[in-house]
Amino acid sequence: MPQDMLGQTAFAYLRKSRTEEGMETQEVLRKHHQALDECAQRHGLVILDYFSEVVSGESLYARPQMLRLLEAVEAGNCDAVLCMDLDRLSRGRMKDQGIILDAFRDSGTLIVTPDKVYNLADEIDDELAEFKTFMSRREYKIINKRLRRGLRRSIEDGCYVANAPYGYRKVTVDRHPTLEPFEPEAKLVRIMFQLYANGYGCTSIAQQITAMGGRPHRSSAFSRTSIAKILRNPTYIGKIVWDQKSHIKKNTKGNLKHITIYNPKEKWTITDGLHPAIVEKELFEKVQEIMAGRYRPAYNDGTVKSPLAGLLKCEKCGNNMQRILTKGAPYLLCQRPGCCAMAKLTLVESRILEHLEDLLEDLQVEHAGSAPDLTPLEETLSAITRELQVAQRQKARLHDLLELGEYDLPTYRERMKVVMEKITALEGHQNVAQKRLREAKAYDPSLQAKRIEAVLDAYQAGDAAQRNALLHSVIEVIYYRKEKKTKPADFELDFVMKSN
Ligand SMILES: [Zn+2]
Repeated sequence: MPQDMLGQTAFAYLRKSRTEEGMETQEVLRKHHQALDECAQRHGLVILDYFSEVVSGESLYARPQMLRLLEAVEAGNCDAVLCMDLDRLSRGRMKDQGIILDAFRDSGTLIVTPDKVYNLADEIDDELAEFKTFMSRREYKIINKRLRRGLRRSIEDGCYVANAPYGYRKVTVDRHPTLEPFEPEAKLVRIMFQLYANGYGCTSIAQQITAMGGRPHRSSAFSRTSIAKILRNPTYIGKIVWDQKSHIKKNTKGNLKHITIYNPKEKWTITDGLHPAIVEKELFEKVQEIMAGRYRPAYNDGTVKSPLAGLLKCEKCGNNMQRILTKGAPYLLCQRPGCCAMAKLTLVESRILEHLEDLLEDLQVEHAGSAPDLTPLEETLSAITRELQVAQRQKARLHDLLELGEYDLPTYRERMKVVMEKITALEGHQNVAQKRLREAKAYDPSLQAKRIEAVLDAYQAGDAAQRNALLHSVIEVIYYRKEKKTKPADFELDFVMKSN
């Protein structure tokens, strides 16, 4: 099989095995390095990078290189992984070995050892018993646990995510995929939760979000089920979820195709992620309680619920202001008895609207005076994007040149490495530039003005729950203050607006 993988790319994974313990690490790795280079040469493989694990056999608490490698494999960044040997595992252990095998199988990445080439996409079922893995049992156990616990977060700044759910975007920070809130969607996600907590059903939420211009990522409109899926997803409170799906591999139970099963919630593994939450934990939990049928909010018949629910806090003690009925009219009262004087809800509500109108006017004046100039940021971003396109074309051309015989393998390898490094660096710059631009846009007073205008436009037509959701979309919190024995309208409100 000489040069059977000519021009294909590989990562080499180097580490000392158990049997080599006591030997000088650098010396062992140097030998492996050489052996893998020879192996690569035989197959015509181009080594893009070496992952050398220098952690000794007993301090396996972390294998940062292995985790980096798996991440690159999952992302499909190479055609093959070269390593010296694979330790044998029993069949039983193999079964629940999911992640590592999946990474190779799903990305179609080959495992190349000096003795044999493994293609898990083809061979996994036949060779299961025979298949050996990179790690001894114990190492496997630790790594697998780590993978499931939110992966690289304790090792490097990043966390593993497969796809960005609605409200987030997948970004790469220092080569590690993570999530970043995407505010135009995140805002709608908060409204979904708010509406549900206020007694709306998923169907009616889907309709309202659609009316507000929301579109899901992979279909044309939100449905009852897609809303319900969002409301159950702990990603929105900064968690990472594992084990939502299980797989039955082809032919293992007489099935001709690979089968994916969606596991019940009890089987999920939920851990802390690195990405920011976009929904408050209390709100999320309230929604979960309602969904589980443990808690019934007052049915929304248009006569109940405060449009100011969850919005006002007592400035003195920080407690939420509560809606109570006195002489048939709704009032706001601090939950701490005797803390501060209450005020009529409608008075507070109209004061809030007045404030929003004032704010809108200010913002419109500000906007007319000085529209922020986004051009430099936009130009930077498009320059980076152009450079990235050039680098990607270079990468494609290198392969052509190799096939045409213009480049010998060492030259190709060297050039490819340079181009790959360039691409990685540019992707990093691109992310930073995109983030800056989004931030600049978020501070654009005209955008905030538009949001407030939208709230004011829709407000009068909305019922209590809709009004509540609208206010929550622009206001973070309002601090309320009223001394005792003062006139009904003698209360003060301090506004904390949402920043973007
Ligand atoms: Zn109070």
